[in-house]
Amino acid sequence: MKPYDYLIVGAGLFGSTYACLARKKGKRCLVIDRRPYLGGNLYCERIEGINVHKYGAHIFHTSNKEVWDFVNSIVDFNRYTNSPVANYQGKLYNLPFNMNTFYQMWGVRTPEEAKARIEEQKLEAVTQMRVAGVSEPRNLEEQALTLIGKDIYEKLIKGYTEKQWGRRCSELPAFIIKRLPVRFVFDNNYFNDTYQGIPMGGYNKLIEGLLEGVETRTNVDFFADRSHWESLADKIVFTGKIDEFYDYRFGKLEYRTVRFEEEIHEHCNYQGNAVVNYTERDIPYTRIIEHKHFEMFGEEVYKLPYTIISREYSIEWHDGIEPYYPVNDVRNTGLYARYKELTDKESVIFGGRLAEYKYYDMHQVIEKVLDLKIE
Ligand code: UDP
Repeated sequence: MKPYDYLIVGAGLFGSTYACLARKKGKRCLVIDRRPYLGGNLYCERIEGINVHKYGAHIFHTSNKEVWDFVNSIVDFNRYTNSPVANYQGKLYNLPFNMNTFYQMWGVRTPEEAKARIEEQKLEAVTQMRVAGVSEPRNLEEQALTLIGKDIYEKLIKGYTEKQWGRRCSELPAFIIKRLPVRFVFDNNYFNDTYQGIPMGGYNKLIEGLLEGVETRTNVDFFADRSHWESLADKIVFTGKIDEFYDYRFGKLEYRTVRFEEEIHEHCNYQGNAVVNYTERDIPYTRIIEHKHFEMFGEEVYKLPYTIISREYSIEWHDGIEPYYPVNDVRNTGLYARYKELTDKESVIFGGRLAEYKYYDMHQVIEKVLDLKIE
């Protein structure tokens, strides 16, 4: 008999949630991760009383009550509401695109005026596409132009997106931009979901809670001794890079990664918001995160005489650094499909952003695990 029912490769959100549910069913699990700590890209480091999101801002949101109840059964969540601000050439605009943005952009005061502006610009884009014989948006640029028009596309979308993905908007899939809501109310809540927040005490609390009672080992590389690790358990849950699992036999998938420049400032309140996006092409970073605002509200912000900010630079992934985002363009989508065909023949369970090569949000990962039959 093998010592474990499940070997879970990767202690990110998919692996940790899987381990939690499997343990509840009485399964013996071992979770291994090559990093020195658990949590994958959710990991936070506590610096001078501030939880610093070491792998970029994570904001939990969902409309699925089962998912929300599940995460709240692990840790309580605070009332953080994401309302990022965009800085374009020094002028500030509220996000997501809503009546505040339209007022800032055009001076329009009513939904009717804003709609008329947008309709005019959308029509222009649709007409141009028709002339070119195109009926459905084929890429992110066409999607944005037909969704919101050229003013917002050029000032708030184009530069940011091209910096984030390192590719032209005309080469990116349309679905990326569908994440961004458009509203004709004065509402700066970035998400449309019913529930939203940050775990009280930070994301490490969520991971610790999920992995409570589960055996874990860090600084362990599955690929360095694959047959040994595989021999330990009846079933494998793999959450790492799918192309690496197959020794890159069809070639390498591409990923985007974020590089951070972290600074501590002797300042209580550097930018007045957790997230400020820099949407112009010429500023090399995509956004500045001020971490204290995720967990400190109102007067609490002033209790600490310093603050920590991170400038985010989006870069192409290469060996030796952590991958963040799958790049779902034509080449990579095709390549992933070839790997996926191999996975269909395996008894291994593949899950999460890297193993499924999918731009998942956290709630979608949890939903996915909750829907699996763990037996
Ligand atoms: N986006 C944009 N301008 C912004 C913020 C987002 O054009 O100021 C677009 C961009 O294409 C980006 C997508 O929306 O890739 C998703 O952005 P979000 O910040 O939601 O993604 P995250 O990096 O947080 O997963």
